[in-house]
Amino acid sequence: QEKDYQFMLRTKNPGGFVPPQLYLALDKLADEYGNHTLRATTRQGFQLHGILKKNLKAAIASIVTNMGSTLGACGDLNRNVMAPPAPFKNSKEYQYAWEYAENVAELLTPQTGAYYEIWLDGEKAISGEENPEVKAARERNGTGTIFHDKEEPIYGTYYMPRKFKVCVTVPGDNSIDLYSQDLTLVVITDNEGELAGFNVFAGGGLGRTHNKEETFARVADEICYVAKEDVYDMVKAIVATQRDYGDRTDRRHARLKYLIHDWGVDKFRAMVEEYFGKPLEPFKPLPQWKYEDFLGWHEQGDGKLFLGISIDNGRIKDEGDFQLKTALRQIVEQYNLPIRLTPHQNVILYDIAPENKQAIEETLNGYGVVTNIDSIDQIFRYSMACPALPTCGLAITESERAIPGILERIRALLNKVGLPNEHFVVRMTGCPNGCARPYMAELGFVGSAPESYQIWLGGSPDQTRLAKAYIDKLHHNDLETFLEPIFVYFKKSRKKGESFGDFCDRVGFDAIRKFTESYKSK
Ligand code: SF4
Repeated sequence: QEKDYQFMLRTKNPGGFVPPQLYLALDKLADEYGNHTLRATTRQGFQLHGILKKNLKAAIASIVTNMGSTLGACGDLNRNVMAPPAPFKNSKEYQYAWEYAENVAELLTPQTGAYYEIWLDGEKAISGEENPEVKAARERNGTGTIFHDKEEPIYGTYYMPRKFKVCVTVPGDNSIDLYSQDLTLVVITDNEGELAGFNVFAGGGLGRTHNKEETFARVADEICYVAKEDVYDMVKAIVATQRDYGDRTDRRHARLKYLIHDWGVDKFRAMVEEYFGKPLEPFKPLPQWKYEDFLGWHEQGDGKLFLGISIDNGRIKDEGDFQLKTALRQIVEQYNLPIRLTPHQNVILYDIAPENKQAIEETLNGYGVVTNIDSIDQIFRYSMACPALPTCGLAITESERAIPGILERIRALLNKVGLPNEHFVVRMTGCPNGCARPYMAELGFVGSAPESYQIWLGGSPDQTRLAKAYIDKLHHNDLETFLEPIFVYFKKSRKKGESFGDFCDRVGFDAIRKFTESYKSK
C-alpha cells in the first residue's frame, strides 16, 4: 500500500491578487485537505501545507476552477510575478505595474497542455481571454533564437536552468524587494503620466549554500530602459539569454545572477542586445526607494478604503482567541472583498465601502485580530520568517516557530540597553536558501545548525543593500550575550537618526568586534 505522501501546494497570484471566490475556495481546501491554515508567502502567493497525494488533483482542480492557478508557482521557469500590493486606484503608475505584472506572467506561462491534462482531465477552465499583444509577443521571433518551437516558444524543450523571479514596480516603491529579483521592471511615465516604458534591473538573487564561497547572495544591476512597445521583447531577450547561457551543469550555479557575475554586466548587456535586436537605451534616473508595507487603513483613491492586516509570518489560522481564518472568511464572504497579498506575508483587504469600515474592524477585533497598527511592535511588523520546520524538507533549523520568541528577546534587550522605541528589519530562515530574504535585512538569521544561525548585519532599512555574514553560528541561547554589546555600541555611536543596518554598515565588522571584546572584558 502506498504511503500517505503529503505535499505543499503553492498558488500563483501575479501582484498578489486573490479574488474573493478564490480566497473562499482556498479557505475551504485548507480545512478539507490541508492543515487548517493558509500561509501567505514572501512572493505574494498562498501555500497550503499537508495535502495528501490522493487529494492533490481535487485541490488543484478546485483552485483552477475558482480563478486561481498553481502553474509556475514552483519549478525551473518564471515564478509568481510580484508587484506592489497597495490598491491605489487613482495612480496610473500602480495600475500599469499590476497590468504588466499580469501580462509578463501570461507571457512566461508554459504553453503545455500537460498541466490541464493531469489535474483537470484536459479541461482548460481558465478565467479570461489571452491578451493578444502578449500572445503575439510570445510567438514573435527575435534576432537571436528566442522562438523555439510551437509548444514552448520561449522556454524551448528544457525550460530554464533554474527558477526565474520577476517583479514590476513603480519609482520609489520597494515593497517587492526589487534588488533580490532576477528581473525587475520599473514603470516610467511621460509628462502626462502615461506609460512611456520601463527601467530594467537584472541579476538579483539570494539563495546560497553554507561553506560554498562560489554561491552567494547578489543584488540586481541596472541594465537599461525599454520603451513600452518593446517591453515583452526585452523580457524575452533576458529570459532567452539566461535560458541559453545559464549553467545547466551545476544547479548551485544556475541562477541568472551567476551568469551576470561571471560575464560582467557589459557582456550580459551585449548578449541581451543581440537577442533584442536593437541598441539598449540608457537607464532613466529614479528617486530613492522606500520599503513600504501598507498596513492599517488607507484611502485607495476612488472613495473606497483598503486595510492592510499584519499577519505573523503569513500564517492564517484559528488558534485559541486568535481566529484570523474565521474572521477573514466571514468578511470576504459578507462583503465580497478582493485581497492583495503583500511581499511581507501580510494581507490587504480592499474595495471596502467606508460605511463598512467599522463593522469590518469590529469583526476582526472580535476574533482577536489587531487592526490598530500603532499597537503592533514595529520589530514584529517589519520581520519575516520562512516556514522551515516542520513543513520544509530543506530546513536545518526552526524559523517560523522560533522567530516570535527571538523578537520578544530582542525587544527586551533593546529596552534593557535604553533603546525602547528602536526597530529595524529582522528576517529569519531555516536554511541558506533565503526564502524570507534574510540577506537584505538589517539583522538576518540564517539557519546553519540545529538551534543555531548564521548572523547577517548591515542591510539597509529600504532594502537596497546586501547585508554581510558576521558570524557563522550563533546558538539561540547566546542571543543576548551576542547582541547586547552591538546594541550598546549602536546606541553610543550612531549618527542622529541612523538605522541599525546603516550603522553596522558604516562602522564595519572590525569596529563591532573590537567594541564587543572590550565590552565583554569589563
Ligand atoms: Fe525551507 Fe530554507 Fe526556504 Fe526556509 S529558506 S522555506 S528552510 S528552503
